[in-house]
Amino acid sequence: MHILVVEDEQRLAALVRRVLVEERHAVDVAHDGDTGLDLADSDTYDLVILDVMLPGTDGFEVCRQMRADGVETPVLMLTARGAVEDRVAGLNVGADDYLVKPFALEELLARVNALLRRRKGSLETSTELRAKDLTLDLVRHEVRRGNRIIELTAKEFALLEYLMRHPGQVLTRTQITDHVWRYDIDALSNVVDTYIHYVRDKVDKGHGTPLIKTVRGVGYKIDA
Ligand code: CA
Repeated sequence: MHILVVEDEQRLAALVRRVLVEERHAVDVAHDGDTGLDLADSDTYDLVILDVMLPGTDGFEVCRQMRADGVETPVLMLTARGAVEDRVAGLNVGADDYLVKPFALEELLARVNALLRRRKGSLETSTELRAKDLTLDLVRHEVRRGNRIIELTAKEFALLEYLMRHPGQVLTRTQITDHVWRYDIDALSNVVDTYIHYVRDKVDKGHGTPLIKTVRGVGYKIDA
């Protein structure tokens, strides 16, 4: 899953990032509230871990603004203050859970996993992804462009699903590798390009409007 960590203490941010990467999540880190809010508002994360005390916009305000912008990503608040009113304030601005610093990494992981399980459950209730005339049925594992059924291998399907879960967003090769392959990133340097080529061949070939776009020097995206 894709997690955003908004934490200004660099060492803590790096530690949390490392622990989450070890659990095979893709992790982005922001060190201030404004950057965190910009990233969170891209609505491409499965979870935001959000420190309350941040330079600039604080965590409460980031969370309140995210919800005001219609972003429903689960938020786990990190607070150095254990005061009841702070916890209540966090939950009132739309946070899903909170953790009081200092915390044990095991507890962080347990809460992250609980929130991600809920997130997965809610993602899976929508069973179809769509990009223009391309549909991907998550339950039947079926892909169609218009009325034409497209046969994909498991990896091709996973790659297309990842692109379609982030419509219009440029995904880097590293993000794609982290999500679709997960292991042996170094050994797979060309694999993303090769599989994009396969999927393109099946999805876009013969169509006037290609849906899968190359963003030179950055990665790939699918048109919304
Ligand atoms: Ca802080």
